[in-house]
Amino acid sequence: MLPVVMYHHINSDDLPLSNSDAMMEAHLRLISERYTTIFPGEPIVSRSLCLTFDDAYYDFYYYVFPLLKKFNLKALLAVPTAFILDETDVEPLQRLSLKHHEIYKNHKAFAPFCTYAELREMVQSGHVEIASHSMNHVNLTEDGVDLDREVFGSKVILEEKLGYRVDSFVLPYGKYNDAVVALAREHYAYVFRIGNAFNPSWDGIGGLIYRIKGDGLKTPNELFRPLKQLGFWCKTVIKGIKS
Ligand SMILES: [Zn+2]
Repeated sequence: MLPVVMYHHINSDDLPLSNSDAMMEAHLRLISERYTTIFPGEPIVSRSLCLTFDDAYYDFYYYVFPLLKKFNLKALLAVPTAFILDETDVEPLQRLSLKHHEIYKNHKAFAPFCTYAELREMVQSGHVEIASHSMNHVNLTEDGVDLDREVFGSKVILEEKLGYRVDSFVLPYGKYNDAVVALAREHYAYVFRIGNAFNPSWDGIGGLIYRIKGDGLKTPNELFRPLKQLGFWCKTVIKGIKS
């Protein structure tokens, strides 16, 4: 069984979607001692685990990327292409200074997302792979959304900018319907949702890869406690029967 864990911010005011840098370091240290982290499609062995970070905030580059190198871990980073600049002169602390609700509307002036230069550096390190997280980070089930642009257009942009094949798609807000899943599966080998269950294989459950919520940790070990793990197992069985 493959656990895939989902995270967002580090040290953000948006606490339900964030961990402190100290908590993330302790948590990743523990993962490095107990698990082997893998990228989508790599063989699943005992104690494999996949780390995923959504939205490509600059705090990923600033806090998490050094930890991945320190503990020799791999992570998948989900990128909404409309908010990514080629590069920036804005100072790191300024880029980190925005409140969560200010980030999207100030993405040009404050560069609060990773830049393409940073994404390339991280990919080249071997510690990070890139997933599309749509173009505009919209709920893909809403009326009027240009699905082709959001799902496939974002892949074309990422592959052009990074010179790198993008095989994974992370559903914004975890939202989907049959049309969204069909289109995502047409263009990507791996499609990720939210859902606190394990995955029997890289096919996920019913074609979608489930992710366990890793934001807002109270202890570094929280996700690995027996009762939590039992809950993930139960959901895996229930979802597997339904699909
Ligand atoms: Zn997101």
